[in-house]
Amino acid sequence: MGVPSIGVRTFPDLDGVTHLVDVVGQDAYPETLDFLTEALRLGISRKIPGDFAFDELTPQSTVRLIHARALVTNHAHFSVCPDFSCPVGHQAGEACFHTLHHATPRDEDGTRTTPSGRYPLRSEAPGVTPQYTMANFLTVPVSHLVLVRHPDPAVNQRQLERLRHARIPVVLADA
Ligand SMILES: [Zn+2]
Repeated sequence: MGVPSIGVRTFPDLDGVTHLVDVVGQDAYPETLDFLTEALRLGISRKIPGDFAFDELTPQSTVRLIHARALVTNHAHFSVCPDFSCPVGHQAGEACFHTLHHATPRDEDGTRTTPSGRYPLRSEAPGVTPQYTMANFLTVPVSHLVLVRHPDPAVNQRQLERLRHARIPVVLADA
């Protein structure tokens, strides 16, 4: 999933750990579930610019993924969905991420298509137009970083130097 994002920002939490905030672009992933489906099938890989402040990263750093349509704000209208389920026990109509399985636009056969194939959605709330808001829908650890080999080896050397304190595994790869 080497898709460029709208932009990666950092933010420090209350314990001083720097995290990456990454907005998933709607041009590549119109719906949050499109991204999640691809992530479950293929894993997650996000591009960050070579001049990124790598020295701010630590082994505790995470990537916080944001999408413009990650949360349904008029969730109460989805209380009529009989097949609603949530692993933490929310009921249909409550403010819950899983409302997306009912609110996400679908083809006539009730599925959506992503580059890796189709995925099914659950029942719709008849006559309801879903309203969405931007939200952090997934937080993942930074398992490793892949540095793209630069024609000038000094560039990679500088990046590696900045990464030394992050103690995150680094792989050097050709573009
Ligand atoms: Zn829930």
